[in-house]
Amino acid sequence: MMKKPFVTKEQVDEIVKTYPTPFHIYDEKGIIENAKAVYEAFSWNEGFREYFAVKATPNPRLMEILKEQGCGFDCSSKTELMLSKAVDASGEDIMFSSNDTPAEEFAYADKLGAIINLDDFTHIEFLEKTIGKIPETISCRYNPGGVFEMSNGIMDNPGDSKYGMTKDQLFEAFKILKEKGAKRFGIHAFLASNTVTNEYYPMLAGQLFELAVELQNKTGAKIAFINLSGGVGVPYLPDQPGNDIAVIGKGVHEQFDKILVPAGMGDVSIFTEMGRFMMAPYGGLVTKAIHEKHIYKEYIGVDACAVDLMRPAMYGSYHHITVLGKENAPLTEVYDVTGSLCENNDKFAIERSLPRIDMGDYLFIHDTGAHGYAMGYNYNGKLKSAELLLKRDGSVELIRRAETPRDYFATFDSLPVFEKLSEIMDEESV
Ligand SMILES: *Cc1c(COP(=O)(O)O)cnc(C)c1O
Repeated sequence: MMKKPFVTKEQVDEIVKTYPTPFHIYDEKGIIENAKAVYEAFSWNEGFREYFAVKATPNPRLMEILKEQGCGFDCSSKTELMLSKAVDASGEDIMFSSNDTPAEEFAYADKLGAIINLDDFTHIEFLEKTIGKIPETISCRYNPGGVFEMSNGIMDNPGDSKYGMTKDQLFEAFKILKEKGAKRFGIHAFLASNTVTNEYYPMLAGQLFELAVELQNKTGAKIAFINLSGGVGVPYLPDQPGNDIAVIGKGVHEQFDKILVPAGMGDVSIFTEMGRFMMAPYGGLVTKAIHEKHIYKEYIGVDACAVDLMRPAMYGSYHHITVLGKENAPLTEVYDVTGSLCENNDKFAIERSLPRIDMGDYLFIHDTGAHGYAMGYNYNGKLKSAELLLKRDGSVELIRRAETPRDYFATFDSLPVFEKLSEIMDEESV
């Protein structure tokens, strides 16, 4: 198998002495090398910037690492904006790409000086009412409708998606925004998710570049940046070839030279808002086998559950599993690997060929670095796990402690029963 965990059994045996399973662990070295490769791939574009999609992995320690590599932050909520401010991002370090946006979030984004990306035509008036003006720099999200097709078939269905403006609305929006004082414009589109093909960004770029030329010509609006947003995928399957960011960057460059440069728009900055590509492969969920069950199928019960990683339960997503210390053992067994939720979809793997698992074995669930911990919830009263950082020097840093019952009960603090709960927590020393 090609997928290799970035920690060994020996390392995990050491780590669990301080931090018990389950935990998400992130690989600082991998994050940094990948971020450098992204910047290298787009180094032909002077204004290039990756705005890391904070929702994928909203941890300020990881955000600091990305910021050091030059990344800004793409936020979609007030708390994500607050995290960005906390790591000293400000002004145009922040893109605010939200939808169905509450007024107070627009106000806060404006207060931080973030670039606001309008999801809808009606948000022009809503924003102006909320903050009393239209910012000089403004972006609009585009939805071309229909289906998004590439050579290997239909990738996604923008016509069914709630995001963005129609083409007509976009032209109208630019005219109105310009009249209201906007001076630097951006366009943004997110048309397909987890694309594991080097074609996606170049193709999206081609469409947006042509649109940008038309918009600038027809409305006179000065297009300063084009935001290709997220959607660049990672290979979750063990034998699946991944994206090559250098090839992707080159593909976008070709479209740039073909469409924007001849139109006199060679000064346009390219922005990206990748989440998954920046982080997914550099995170893993480490969990311990605590039960085995033999009924109509063979089950391995682990100490993590869908609360720690929801993608398999929510989308049936495949996450590769390595049994640590048994990397080269033959795959003699077929297991369902389950968590403890009272939900039959709480399975990290279904009928997966794995080596024989003994109680106490550690399982490394791959590619949980994006949309992993972040999607967690507290169903069944389960508490969310810790997050650890494996640093370049091999040491391990706690970057978010595990939740305790105190966190879980905190929002009952207005109830008389909270006093009783507090006593119980004291008794249990939690
Ligand atoms: C989710 C999201 C992203 C990141 O998507 P990935 O698939 O993780 O790259 C970027 N921009 C916006 C607006 C998003 O909603």
